[in-house]
Parts: sequence; structure tokens; C-alpha cells
Amino acid sequence: MESHNSYRNYLLFNFFLVFSLWVSAAVSAELRVAVSIAPLHSLVASVMTGTRQPDLIMRQNVSPHSYQLTPSKARLLSRADLVFWIGADFERALGKIIGALPERVSSTALGAAGCIPPGGGEDLHIWLDPVIAICLVGRIRSSLTRLDADHSGLYRKNARILIRRLKALDQELKARLAPLAGRRYLVFHDAYWYFERRYGLHSAGFFRTVPDRLPGAGRIVKLRRRIATENIECIFTEPGFVPAQMRAIIRETGLKSGILDPLGSGLKPGPDHYFEMMRRLARNLAGCLEGK
Ligand SMILES: [Zn+2]
Repeated sequence: MESHNSYRNYLLFNFFLVFSLWVSAAVSAELRVAVSIAPLHSLVASVMTGTRQPDLIMRQNVSPHSYQLTPSKARLLSRADLVFWIGADFERALGKIIGALPERVSSTALGAAGCIPPGGGEDLHIWLDPVIAICLVGRIRSSLTRLDADHSGLYRKNARILIRRLKALDQELKARLAPLAGRRYLVFHDAYWYFERRYGLHSAGFFRTVPDRLPGAGRIVKLRRRIATENIECIFTEPGFVPAQMRAIIRETGLKSGILDPLGSGLKPGPDHYFEMMRRLARNLAGCLEGK
């Protein structure tokens, strides 16, 4: 009787062993993907709908230019199969870490994916143009498919739906922003070149350069002169930290001010994030310039 029991336990043990190996194989078959910033995470999450959702590395309200990686986020990166980011010129703090990841971790720098028209200077906020975003979706899909051919049909279908949504968004923004062509405003940092190029807008300048550098006294003087002479109507800050110099300019000139947020802070990460972020951007821009 006893030996019968232990034989049964032995079988049971083997069954659970095989079962748990099978479960872990099934789990690890789902690709682990990490994405640097929320708008790109949103596009990747859309393409990955129906499979394991990607991890977001940079929570909102941090500047990706000066972000410091926490140990838990570094772990997410090293555990990933695939990492999407813009590139070392944009998410500066990630450059060294992504360069040093184990060889089995692939990475796709979307800033180098051949989707960018020439002329953007230091500005790499390429996702702010939905037409560029459509190109990025193609790159995201091919990177995912290369590592996970089993889901290629799903990725293709999701990408097709997302591209359709992006085209509709582009038309919507074009119609919304067309009346603002030629209006003059100042932005917080050099982030809107692609957005403005797409929608025929042209800001009169920016307060801070992309690598999070505050302007010197000379540049402040120049900005004040431009405000006084160039018919500038609005000055846009970004969520979070507003430098005292900028607050002083707003106070002294009496300019209307608004908020433009190229990362979509406070919006729930996921497939709809990108669309809400872009609509909010257009709404806030129009809101200040139209005086609502
Ligand atoms: Zn930026």
C-alpha cells in the first residue's frame, strides 16, 4: 500500500513538474517589451493589443532629457526581450544602460528608424507628427514580428487599425489647427518642430534648449525683445517645474499663458494615451491663442 502511495506521489510530482515547466514556457513565450516614454509606449501597446502589454520605463512628469534611471526600471530593461526608445541623443540617461544590456535584449531606436524628415535640428520629439507616428508603427511592428513571429498576424491587424486611427487623428488636427496658421507664441522647450511643421504652425521661439539647459541672461533679453516687437500672443509652459525667469516674463509682459505637454503627463498609459495627448496639445494651443 505504502509503495503504491509513494508511486502515486511520484507520478503527481512529475505531473506538477512538467505542468510548471509548461506554464513557464507558455509565459516566457509572450514577448517582454519595455518602452522609454509614454507616447511611444502607447503606440507599442496598441500594436501589442491581445498579448502581454509593454512596460513603461519613464513615468510621466519627468523630463526624458535629464531622467535618472531607478534600479527597478533598470531591472525592467535587463529583463526585457525588446526595448523601444528614441535614442541616445534623446533619452540621454538610457544610452549607457541600453548599450550595456545583455546580448539577448534587442533594442530599436525609433529616432534612427528612417522615419524622420531632415531639418529638425536638435528636436527629436518626432512622435508629435502623426504621419511620422504611422511610419514608427511600421518599425514597431517589424521589430516585434522579428522576435515573435507567432503573433505576426495579430501585430499586422493591430497596426492596421492603429494606422487608420492615426490618419483620422491627422485630419482632425489639421482641421482644428488650420485657423491658427501664422499666430505667434513662445514655447517652453524646443519640442514642437515636427508638430508645427505638420500643421503649418510656427512658434516664435523657445525658452529652454532640449538638453534641459536654462537660458542665459543674453537669451532672456532677446526673448523679452521679441515679445515686445513681434506680436507674440501666448507663452506656453509645460507641466511641473516652471523656472522663475519664465514666471517673471509672463508676469511682466502680461502675456496670456497656457500649458503644452509633449509627453501627456497625467493621462493613463496605454493605447489611447497617444490620441488624448495629441488632442490635448491641440486644444491647449488653440485655447490660449483663441482666448478661451
Ligand atoms: Zn523634450
